[in-house]
Amino acid sequence: MSTPAGTDLTATDAAELGRLLNTGEVSSTEITRAYLDRIAADDGELGAYLHVDPDAALARAAELDSSEGDLGALAGLPVALKDVVVTEGVPTTSGSRILEGWRPPYDATVAARLKAAGTVLLGKTNMDEFAMGSSTENSAYKVTRNPWDRDRIPGGSSGGSSAAVAGGLAPWAIGTDTGGSIRQPAAVTGLVGHKPTYGSVSRFGLIAFSSSLDQAGPMARTVLDAALLHEAIGGHDPLDSTSIPAPLPPLAECARRGAEGDLSGVRIGVVRELGGEGHAEGYEPGVLARFGEAVALLESLGAEIREVSCPAFDLALPAYYLIAPSEASSNLARFDGVRYGLRVGDDGSHDLDEVMALTREQGFGPEVKRRIILGTYALSSGYYEAYYGQAQKVRTLISRDFNAAFGIDDGNGVDVLISPTTPTVAFPIGSRTDDPIAMYAADLCTLPASLAGVPAISVPCGLSEGLPVGLQVMAPALADDRCYRVAAALEAAQDAARGHRFLDQLVRRAAGPEEPA
Ligand code: GLN
Repeated sequence: MSTPAGTDLTATDAAELGRLLNTGEVSSTEITRAYLDRIAADDGELGAYLHVDPDAALARAAELDSSEGDLGALAGLPVALKDVVVTEGVPTTSGSRILEGWRPPYDATVAARLKAAGTVLLGKTNMDEFAMGSSTENSAYKVTRNPWDRDRIPGGSSGGSSAAVAGGLAPWAIGTDTGGSIRQPAAVTGLVGHKPTYGSVSRFGLIAFSSSLDQAGPMARTVLDAALLHEAIGGHDPLDSTSIPAPLPPLAECARRGAEGDLSGVRIGVVRELGGEGHAEGYEPGVLARFGEAVALLESLGAEIREVSCPAFDLALPAYYLIAPSEASSNLARFDGVRYGLRVGDDGSHDLDEVMALTREQGFGPEVKRRIILGTYALSSGYYEAYYGQAQKVRTLISRDFNAAFGIDDGNGVDVLISPTTPTVAFPIGSRTDDPIAMYAADLCTLPASLAGVPAISVPCGLSEGLPVGLQVMAPALADDRCYRVAAALEAAQDAARGHRFLDQLVRRAAGPEEPA
C-alpha cells in the first residue's frame, strides 16, 4: 500500500483520512507513523504531550490494519486524549504531581468508546493541573506553546490537545470543558471545539474538577471532524448517574447540511452582554471586527439576526469562580496520599494526618491550592448562603436568560445565540500568571453556557494580527446539532470567501516558517 502522491497525512482532515483508509489508499500504520514523526520532530518545542508510547501506537495500528471486521468510520485513525481522561494501564496525571506515575486500572467511557471504534491512542496531552486554568501554564510538568506563535499560550485547560491538533501532531483530540476549556483553546489555535450538552457525553473516568459542569468533547480542524468525533464518544452511559438517556442528534449529518450554506429561516441572537454595545470593555478591537464580519456573513446566508440581552450573563464569572472551586474542594479531597499517586513523609516519623498534609502541600500547585481554599471558604458554615447559595441563584438566573432567549416557554425566541469565544487572541506566555483575575477573564464568554449546561461550539472566524479568532454558537440543551449546522455554514462561507480552506492556512502555519507557502 502506498500513500497517495503528495498527500501530507498530518495536513489532512480526519474525515478525508478515514476515506483514504476505507479505500485502502493508506494504512493506519502509515497515518500513525506520520503523526509520530511529527511528534518526534516538534513536540520537544511545542510541549503538547505528557505521554507518548510510539511502540504501543504502532502495534495497535498494525493490529487494526490486519483486522478483518468493519469497525466503522473512525477505525484506524489516531487520536490524542487530554490527560484528565483515565486510560487503562497508560499514565494519567491530570497535569498534577500528585498523580505522577499513576497507571489507572480502567478506561474512562470516552476512552473505551474510542477504543471500540478502532482508534489508535497517540498519547495523552498536557493540561492545566486538574483543568484549572486558561493557558496550560498551570501544568505541573511543562509549558505548551501555541503553534501560531510559540511565545504565546495555546489556551487552556485543554492546551496540549489544542497545540497537538493545530500543530499537526494529532488529527483531532479530546478535551474537557468546565468553564471553557475546550472552546477557548480551540479559539486561540484556530480549531473547532465543542462543549456538548451537560450529561450527553459520559463523565465516567474523567478526573473530576467540578462535577456539575465538567463535560468532554471534540477538538478538531473542521466542523465535520468535530461532529464525527463527538458521535463516537457521546450518548447515554449507565456508568454516569448524570448521563441523559436520550440519543444524540445526527451531528455529522447536520454539519454536512450546514456546509451547503443555506441558513434561511434560522434565527440567530447576538448576545449584547458578550462584547456588544456598552459591554465591549476588555474585548480586543480585532476580535470584535472579525466577529462583526462573521455576523454579516451569517446574515448573507439567509439567517435572521437579532440582538438579544441576557443581563445575568454579567454575573457568570463571579458565580462560576464560587461554584467550580466549591465542587473542586470536595472532589480533590480524595487525593490524600493514601490511595494513589504521590505519598510524602511515609518514613515512620509522621502520623497519618501529617502524611496527608505533606502530600497535598507538595503534590498540588498554587492555583489548585487557591481553588481549594476559595471553595472551602465559600462552603463553610456562616458563609455558605452568602457565597455558594448566591452563586447558585445566579446560575438559575443565567438559565432563565437562556430559556427566554431561546423562547423555551413562549416559542418566541432565537434558534442559537452567538458571541466571540474569547475577548482576546492568544496572549503571551507569562503575561497573566501573576494575575488570577486577568487569567479568569479569558472565560468571560464561555461561562454562561457552562453554568446553564447548554451546548456551545467555537469555530474559527478569521485572524487578528495574524492570530486566530473564534466565534461561539450556543444552542438549547440537547440541540447540539444546531451548533454544528451554523458553525459548518460559517466555515464553508468563509472558506469560499477567502478562496482556500482555513485548514490549509492552519497546517501551513504549523509547519513553521521554512515551509513553502
Ligand atoms: N479557565 C476556567 C478555569 O480555570 C475553565 C477551566 C475548564 O473549563 N476546565 O476554571
